[in-house]
Amino acid sequence: MSDDILDCLIIGGGAAGLTAAVYMGRYKRRVLLLDEGHSRLKRIPRTRNVPGFPDGIEGPELLHRLQEQAARYGVTPQATRVERLRKLDDGNFLAEGRDGSWRARFVLLATGASDVEPEIEASRRP
Ligand SMILES: Cc1cc2nc3c(=O)[nH]c(=O)nc-3n(C[C@H](O)[C@H](O)[C@H](O)COP(=O)(O)OP(=O)(O)OC[C@H]3O[C@@H](n4cnc5c(N)ncnc54)[C@H](O)[C@@H]3O)c2cc1C
Repeated sequence: MSDDILDCLIIGGGAAGLTAAVYMGRYKRRVLLLDEGHSRLKRIPRTRNVPGFPDGIEGPELLHRLQEQAARYGVTPQATRVERLRKLDDGNFLAEGRDGSWRARFVLLATGASDVEPEIEASRRP
């Protein structure tokens, strides 16, 4: 475990996490972004509701641009999954995964959403 305490640990590197990374990087916070790499942006053929892109933009391209923008301010996503998160007695947070552990004053959860598909009888037929 690193002795350095981050200002903020961002968990999740999709649209939300990377947007937060840009802001915190610009404000020169000590920030780390951990991302498992399954952003739903990767599944968007072309989104047409992102401001500034009147003709739309493909989801993977948008993700790439957001990553580049965050990197300009010193935040490069680290590919890993956070498995556990808890608050310590000193008020800091401890996040743990198979690749290490991280301490931070604040944690920003930007882990997105996942589909919970209903059981549909027809879908079980061959
Ligand atoms: C087919 C499809 C089409 C869509 N079209 C549009 C559209 O046209 N316009 C639009 O506005 N939206 C669209 N969306 C929705 C859009 O993709 C989501 O709103 C957006 O990606 C949400 O961003 P997010 O950062 O909250 O989550 P995500 O982009 O999903 O990112 C979450 C990230 O957190 C990571 N993560 C989760 N748990 C952990 C963990 N424990 N440790 C480390 N990392 C973790 C995930 O791997 C992922 O990379 C579409 C979605 C889909 C599936």
